[in-house]
Amino acid sequence: MLLNSRQVKSVLTSIWILFLLFVFASSAAATAPKYVFLFIGDGMGIPQRMAANEYLGHKLLVDRLPYQGITTTHAADRFITGSAAAGTAMASGLKTNIGVGGMDPNLKPVKTLAELARDNGMKVGIISSVSVDHATPAAFYAHVPTRGQYYDIDVALAESGFDYFGGGTIKDPDNDRDNATTFKGNAWELIRENGYKVTQNRADFEKLTPADGKVFATNEWIQNSGALPYQMDTSSKDISLSEFTQKGIELLDNENGFFMMVEGGKIDWACHANDATAAIKDTIEFDKAVEKAYAFYKNHPDDTLLVVTGDHECGGMTLGFAGTKYQTYFDGLKGQKVSFRQFTEDIVTAFQEKDVTPNFEDMKPHITNYFGLKFKGAADDLMVLANHEITQIIEAYQRSMDKNVEKSSDPRTYIMYGGYDPLSVTLTHILNQKAGIAWTSYKHTGVPVTTSAVGPDAETFQGMYDNTDIALKIMDIMGLGATFKYATAVNN
Ligand SMILES: [Zn+2]
Repeated sequence: MLLNSRQVKSVLTSIWILFLLFVFASSAAATAPKYVFLFIGDGMGIPQRMAANEYLGHKLLVDRLPYQGITTTHAADRFITGSAAAGTAMASGLKTNIGVGGMDPNLKPVKTLAELARDNGMKVGIISSVSVDHATPAAFYAHVPTRGQYYDIDVALAESGFDYFGGGTIKDPDNDRDNATTFKGNAWELIRENGYKVTQNRADFEKLTPADGKVFATNEWIQNSGALPYQMDTSSKDISLSEFTQKGIELLDNENGFFMMVEGGKIDWACHANDATAAIKDTIEFDKAVEKAYAFYKNHPDDTLLVVTGDHECGGMTLGFAGTKYQTYFDGLKGQKVSFRQFTEDIVTAFQEKDVTPNFEDMKPHITNYFGLKFKGAADDLMVLANHEITQIIEAYQRSMDKNVEKSSDPRTYIMYGGYDPLSVTLTHILNQKAGIAWTSYKHTGVPVTTSAVGPDAETFQGMYDNTDIALKIMDIMGLGATFKYATAVNN
């Protein structure tokens, strides 16, 4: 068959258009990262990051990533957010009410980034240093009107089809809270029936390989409420957040890519209790987890997006205290050996359980040993307690020993102790103040957080934007579509 010049021209044009379409399609595919990490420091605002930098004497990796932005955090129905609403915003791109997880304010379930990634054939990992059914991680796979529906969340976890859960454990496997929508039997059994290999100690954790298939890996020592211990309370027996992250990378790495969410949940818990040292050490461990992802990014720079943010600030931590004016002394924090919680459990409880009335003189060596606060010493020693501080400590000690005292029944004692053990929280307050760190609250605050990013299209994380934009930007970069059509019913 012979073609005339017009036909030849038309064929050539068609070939040219096909070629352009091919180039466009392949370049679009090439820019969508195969590997996506979202790190969420729970309660990690700007002061928490800055305090860790000052404590270390150098910048955290998260503060050295090339693109930095400011993120607002409010919930749909409250200026100061909670982890369920904030988690939902970052998982689904949608504002919801306080306490709601994975649903809009009308309680309609919304699809999450993690579910979209799974539906697109990617592997999915969810890691947290608190229980993996806690509000932040749950917002990526569960859809519940109230975050306290732990049994329902545990069932959603078992049925998620996600590939890796790592970190803390689950809070209500037997529906002891009696708030399940439908009881389907013990949640651990459901998790195993759904094909998960469960490990609960370091030896079994270290043996895990991709051949094990779906995995739920937790730690032998659960400090309380299903959470890993505070980093500063751990020993080499404990599996750290960075190790859970590294294992996730090994287990999830595959041709179709993965989405991994890693939460540093205990930064928040330390800040609720106003324990700066515990918060800083968990922030540093969180940063080490980010380092694992960054090393992976360095090996796959064109295919890996790494985003790090916080869900809200917690505690109203600030750097600067009236009592120390312009002075800061972060090295003073290095005298603290255990978290407030471990001190309460090990020392305060032992004193409370003594048969004879305990003597404050016997408590003094423990205060010096565990917090570095001294009752005597040279005038220029910043760790020597002033008289007004000793008065505060004795008052708190007496309240701690008097177990009949309702610790937070009146506004004045609530502001002083926040419902925590009075002695422990007073010691962290005084130590923190000596370092130049002060607190305004035992709850979250409304100040914005920093979001940091590296990888394809990471420059879009510069500037000031809302927490819902984090999900929408990631969906857009992943080619999942940053429009609200994705934030619709789960089973549509
Ligand atoms: Zn919190």
